[in-house]
Amino acid sequence: MDLISIVVPCYNEEESMPQFYREVTKVVDTMNVEMEIIFVDDGSKDRTLAVARKLHELDKRVRYISFSRNFGKEAGMLAGLKAAKGDFVAVMDADLQDPPSLLPEMYEAVTTGGFDCAATRRTTRKGEPPIRSFFARMFYRIINRISDANIVDGARDYRLMKRKMVDAVLSMEEYNRFSKGIFGWVGFKTKWIEYVNVERVAGETKWSFWKLFKYSVEGIVAFSTTPLYISSVMGFIVCIVAFIMACFYGIKALIFGDPAAGFPTMVCIMLFLGGIQLIGIGVLGMYLSKTYLETKHRPIFIIRETESDGENSEK
Ligand code: UDP
Ligand code: MG
Repeated sequence: MDLISIVVPCYNEEESMPQFYREVTKVVDTMNVEMEIIFVDDGSKDRTLAVARKLHELDKRVRYISFSRNFGKEAGMLAGLKAAKGDFVAVMDADLQDPPSLLPEMYEAVTTGGFDCAATRRTTRKGEPPIRSFFARMFYRIINRISDANIVDGARDYRLMKRKMVDAVLSMEEYNRFSKGIFGWVGFKTKWIEYVNVERVAGETKWSFWKLFKYSVEGIVAFSTTPLYISSVMGFIVCIVAFIMACFYGIKALIFGDPAAGFPTMVCIMLFLGGIQLIGIGVLGMYLSKTYLETKHRPIFIIRETESDGENSEK
């Protein structure tokens, strides 16, 4: 029988977890597979870890990993994927926004369907502020134009992958992890399953607008070097314009003399150039800072406790 590992990053999800466990086991028990659920407690401030311990006690198919602090969902997913032993690995949110009822269809796609991965995308952004949807759309449009990784609009992290693909994802050892890009970059045949957006069962979203914005910039920096290219091109264009203007004003001064006029023009030009320079330095800085963090080779997460520690401490 195949073993399916279900990786669940959890940050302050004490309320959702028991319900998540019930729903998932209900679905998986109807499938002809073995299962393990790996809850990754991402340094939660509530009783997430205690709930995970309890679920492990009730059902040994539940495993858990607990971080020493909050490392973010990307780190949580990575830790879960590393720990997963399954022939197939699924990534799911704890808040039941990723319907477990899709699992049988996804499993069929990767076993008999000839796909390496079954991924989901939501077709609506219901229950989301319109401004956020607008920026999200823009982000997908931009990143797909400037990067190799095929990043699908509305794609969730909810997916079921074959072992081969999981290993490919794990072989990407970058520090700045942008999963949507990583999943797209490794390739493999992916079946997209669409569903209507579901609102979370309990608790609230951990994503503020600012966090999402930073995340999208990180995604672009991680999967495209086009911004660097654009800033060089911008510099080049400005140089050409400056050269043409110099010629123009030089000739004009020779013919008409040079009364000290045009102060406002000067100020505008200086500000414009200063702005472009700062943008260029900023873009450069973003890449440099990411490179700096990559070269440090810091661990992406630090584990404080896993289910095997829990068992030892009981004895
Ligand atoms: N999450 C996490 N670490 C964080 C933030 C979120 O592990 O720092 C988990 C969270 O517990 C949930 C999943 O990532 O299982 C998705 O988070 P959320 O539901 O807040 O995002 P949304 O569904 O609104 O995009
Ligand atoms: Mg959610």
